[in-house]
Formats: sequence, structure tokens, C-alpha cells
Amino acid sequence: MTTNKTYHIITIGCQMNKSDSERIASYLENLGYQESSEKEADLVVITTCGVRQSAENRIYGIIPKLKKQNPSVKIILTGCLAGREDVKKRIGEKVDIWLPVKELEKLKALLENCEDDFCNTSIYNSKYKTNDDYLKLKPKYNSVFSAFVPIGNGCDNFCTYCVVPYARGSEKYRSAEEILEEVKILVKKGYKEIALIAQNVNSYKSDANVLINTNDADCESKKVINFSKLLQMVNDIKGDFWIRFATSHPKDMSDELIETIASRKKICHHIHLPAQAGDDDVLHRMNRRYTRGHYLGLIKKIKDRMPDVALTTDIIVGFPGETRQQFDKTKELFEEVQYDMAYIAQYSPRPGTAALKFEDDIETEEKKRREEELMEVLRRTAAGNNKKYIGKKYKILIDKKNKRGNFVGRTETNKNVEIINPENIGRNLIGEFVAVKIEKADDFGLAGKIIC
Ligand code: SAH
Ligand code: SF4
Repeated sequence: MTTNKTYHIITIGCQMNKSDSERIASYLENLGYQESSEKEADLVVITTCGVRQSAENRIYGIIPKLKKQNPSVKIILTGCLAGREDVKKRIGEKVDIWLPVKELEKLKALLENCEDDFCNTSIYNSKYKTNDDYLKLKPKYNSVFSAFVPIGNGCDNFCTYCVVPYARGSEKYRSAEEILEEVKILVKKGYKEIALIAQNVNSYKSDANVLINTNDADCESKKVINFSKLLQMVNDIKGDFWIRFATSHPKDMSDELIETIASRKKICHHIHLPAQAGDDDVLHRMNRRYTRGHYLGLIKKIKDRMPDVALTTDIIVGFPGETRQQFDKTKELFEEVQYDMAYIAQYSPRPGTAALKFEDDIETEEKKRREEELMEVLRRTAAGNNKKYIGKKYKILIDKKNKRGNFVGRTETNKNVEIINPENIGRNLIGEFVAVKIEKADDFGLAGKIIC
């Protein structure tokens, strides 16, 4: 059915939020909504992030702006903040529908309560039930060549600073069968990049009683498919594509997984391994459940097996009680690992989390200083790593054109590469793999020429 109703989605935060927004878009399109601009849309969905106060604050600016530019707009708030009572109290009257994403199937009825002149078709196939079954819904992918494929949702780890286990609930994983089916369809359509995503991909287990389509006797007897096996199965799908994954938790990174990443051709040699801190006492108070020694041991195994690997991380600076000496351990970790990229966040106290019992005692100025000090090391190590690319040939997936009109893409190690031979500007290479010889490198980018 068609209606002349329109929607727009604003996504704040992580890859999982981006992926959820793709499912919300397809849900609304199945109800007959059409995508339109933020200013004109009848419905604006905001997929919110509550990981840090700064991300949360964005909605307090966006919502009044939306209402001002279109007073009749209906606002649906989903994502991390949809279950937060304090947020509801603060902006309750400005939001029309509060929608935990796991309750996406209720949206049709909620919209009908708002207005009853549209939509009465059932959009779900018979498999669709509730909760994390929203992941069964076919998404409207944002890209025609690179797709996020969520392999699960939620987190059971309860790092003391983190809202995710409260916002997304406990870990639930999709069956391997369902994931493989989604990837096969994408590859058939010509997708070149599949990013398997979950809060902690390393603790993936396929649901019990799922048909295991593998000859692996070990799997067969245990009736489980772990992340390493899942990667192998995705790798075995025929086609020219590469596989990324995020996020890996260091406590669950097995030797078997490292071996799989190293030995399977389609799996990118880029590992995002959030360390969060380099000091054992801080790691303990964060409830990360690994030590600096364990983390560095993993890095050694990974580098020994994959000398070309790119390593990236997440770090929190200024965690309650983090002393100068403890922070220096994180700096030393940066020197030792030689990261290619790091997402450095200043600690932000979050409602409902265990770390609230610790005093947020590091001054903002000091948090900022620590962030800058780590950035300084990162720039140096990343530049050093990038220099090694000069003069070598790499396969690049072209993403887009930049402001200069040059194509830009990424290596399998997720390095940005600008294409600098001008004769390519007229061609459309977006979504294509090309071979590039690297000529220049700086801290966070490479440049090179297409060689065939
Ligand atoms: N599941 C992923 C991370 C999800 S949250 C993992 O385990 O690595 C993304 C990042 O936000 C975290 O890695 C952490 O560095 C940061 N973060 C989470 N809570 C935070 C907080 N309260 N203050 C500052 N940064 C935080
Ligand atoms: Fe948050 Fe820790 Fe779970 Fe990552 S592993 S989502 S940081 S609780």
C-alpha cells in the first residue's frame, strides 16, 4: 500500500545504531512511508546514544529545532535513551513515541494511536516474533556495496562505566543460518564489504537447536557455532567480498579466532581491540576482566601471526581515581602496541552504572590533557605504520569522492586512501575494488595511484 506520509531518521552513535536505523527505515517503508528531508518529514525518528553525556545532550538541541522548523512533526525516540525515565521526565512532552528498538513491532499500533488514516498491512513474515527478532526484519541498507550485518544484540559484560547492558539488555545472538542467509543475499547483489557487528562478537554462539550446516565434527558434537566458526562459514561463501567485524572483547579473543582471521582470505587484517586502559587496577575497577599482560599477550600473538595487521582501540581517560602513574601505563601501552587508530573518550558518569559509586574526581582540564597526550603518541605511531605502505600495492574498496573530486577508499586494514591519478575522475569507481600503489602517507591517510 502507499500513503503520502514521509519519514526521516537521525542516527547518533555506534554501528549498531546505524544498523538499527536501517531496519526502522524498512519497517516504515513497509508501512508505506517514504523517506524525505528532516524539514519536511511527517515523522522524524531519532536513534539515540547514551554512552556519553555529550552524545545524550545532542537530542536536547535537536528536538526543539525539529519542532520549531515543523510544529506538526511527530517525533519517535529510540536507541539507548528510549528506556531512560529521567530523559522521559525532561523531554517527555516533546516526544510523541518512545520506542525501545526491540519493540519495533509495536510501532504500527503506536502510530495508529497517533493517527488512524493509514496502514493496515501486516509486514512481518511468520518467523517474526518479538525482542531481538527485530533483527530478522530485512533492512534498508544505506549503502549498495557495504553492509552492516548484526550477529546479535545486547551485552552481559557490565563494564562499570557503560550503559549498553542496561540500554540493550542481555546478549542474544542470531542463528548462523540466518546470518549466512543475509550475507549470501548481499553478496549475490554485489556487496563487496560485510561488517559483522555486535557489542562483543567474540562471545557469539549460535542459538541452541539450530540446524548446523557444517561437517566440523567438533561443532556437531557441541551443537554450537562460535565466532571463529561463523567467520569461517562467511568466508566460505563464494564471491569477491571482504569481511570486517567489531567489536572484539579482549577477554574472549581466542587463539582459534586469531588463527581464523590470519588464515582466511576474505577476513580483513584489521582488529579493533578496545583496551580502555593500560593499568591493571583501573582495568579491575572497570570490570574489564583481563589484565594489561593478557592484552599485550594477545597483541603479540596477533602481530606474530599477521605482521601486516592494523590495530585500533577504544580508551577512556580520567576514569575515577585514575592517577598520573596509572594514566602513564596507558601511554606506555600506546607506545608498545603502536596503534593505527584510537577512539579516546573522556570518562563521563552514566546514570545506573556501577562506576557512579566512584567519585568523578579527575578535572575536565586534566582529562583533556590526557586525551591530547594519547593523541600525540597515536599520531606518531600511526604515521610510522603508514610510512611502511609507501611504494607497495594494495587492494582498495572505493567509498566515495572527496571535496577535491578525487575518489577515496580503504585498504583491508581500514586505511583511508585518496586516489591521485586525475585520469580516473571521469569513471565511476564507487563500490569497486581497485589496485593502488601508495605514494604518500601521513598519520591518518594514504594517497596513491590506480595501477590497473
Ligand atoms: N562493546 C564495545 C564498546 C561499546 S561503547 C566494547 O566493549 O569495546 C563504545 C565505547 O564508548 C567504549 O569502548 C568506551 O571506550 C566508550 N565509553 C563507554 N562508556 C563510557 C563512559 N561512561 N565514558 C566515556 N566513554 C565511554
Ligand atoms: Fe559496554 Fe563493556 Fe559491554 Fe562493551 S563490553 S558494551 S564497554 S559493557
